[in-house]
Amino acid sequence: MAREQNTRWRIEADHGACMGTGICAGVAPDVFQVVDGRSVPPAGEVPADENVLDAVESCPMEALRVRDAVSGEVLDLS
Ligand code: SF4
Repeated sequence: MAREQNTRWRIEADHGACMGTGICAGVAPDVFQVVDGRSVPPAGEVPADENVLDAVESCPMEALRVRDAVSGEVLDLS
């Protein structure tokens, strides 16, 4: 999936849904950390990266969302 090189995203974790499996951090350890049993994505913007999408899509709880940093729209990963 081609994306604009300068596209930036914000990542959100639903801590009510996250079960702390660590899968996201395993797929993209430079982006996700698991702290106290919950995934902690970066607080700020991150560059668009297929690795981030792989991590988001790997979450068994569908606890992660990616928003376009400019429009605020949630990316449809279905
Ligand atoms: S993969 Fe999903 S459930 Fe597992 S730590 Fe990451 S956000 Fe939480």
